[in-house]
Amino acid sequence: ERETALADAEQPAVTVDGQTIQVFANVGSVQDAADARGADGSGLVRTEVLFGDRQVAPTVEEQVEAFRAIAAALGGKPITIRTWDIGGDKPLPFLAQGKEANPFLGQRGIRVFRRRPELLRDQLRAICQVALETPVQLMFPMVTTAEEVAWALAELADIGSSGWGVKVGIMVEVPAAALRISSLAEGLDFVSIGTNDLTQYTTAADRGNSAVAPLADGLDPAVLQLIDRVVREVPAGVEVAVCGDLASDPAAAVLLAGLGIRELSAVGPQVPVIKSRLRRTDLTEAAKTAAHALTLTSATAVRDLLDRSQAE
Ligand code: PEP
Ligand code: MG
Repeated sequence: ERETALADAEQPAVTVDGQTIQVFANVGSVQDAADARGADGSGLVRTEVLFGDRQVAPTVEEQVEAFRAIAAALGGKPITIRTWDIGGDKPLPFLAQGKEANPFLGQRGIRVFRRRPELLRDQLRAICQVALETPVQLMFPMVTTAEEVAWALAELADIGSSGWGVKVGIMVEVPAAALRISSLAEGLDFVSIGTNDLTQYTTAADRGNSAVAPLADGLDPAVLQLIDRVVREVPAGVEVAVCGDLASDPAAAVLLAGLGIRELSAVGPQVPVIKSRLRRTDLTEAAKTAAHALTLTSATAVRDLLDRSQAE
């Protein structure tokens, strides 16, 4: 399967019934981008990983160079750059964070920058600058409220980026954001569902703790119901992508397509495999399976359903 998938990697992922699904790659380095054969671009550039070894904050120019190199490694295809997503499992040496009793429920992602806006502004400048050369989308992580969206957009406006053509979106990885997507995403260009954190927060099971790993399963119907809600209730014209690890599992990728997702972002080496699987998918069938999955009561039951429908 992998061999045919690799041979056809550069072909678009068009389903049996003629629908194109875009398959992007998640990247944290130029090497990741180079390894993403057949990707339609990057649906998630993890900037905190890209600069994870820095003791001092990178300058605007250093960030521009790094983003430029990633875009080049992807042949100039669109890249979605996520602003610093730190806290929880992701410390950044140049940004000291106080100790917190519950870091995953504390100062993470966009929350951190309410007190440190200058660091975010430099990054926004770099993103807007590189957007003058290559197609770029800008994405804010860990958004919970509409007020945070308004604050982030105001920061962007402050650096004078209006009219630079950058598409702006947010990650949907906090259950509250998924539940109020219709108001939260108003005026944005896109949202991207982060299934890793969405699963962790929906099931209250730490994504990195193996003792509760069976609970933190992105195929849990409770998580799928939130994804379904986002697809159905997002304001018209706002695109919905999935960039969490669920999109890297071929069977789950088909399920997401069945829920109406048309943009997936997976780990680089999985991109050709996901594309190959989607080319063999009939979306009408996938939609039926997805509707069934929403009614089930456990991730195990969903996985069994996906196994059975693939065997047919
Ligand atoms: C996610 O939470 O699903 C996600 C894509 O972001 P990260 O894994 O970097 O937290
Ligand atoms: Mg996340």
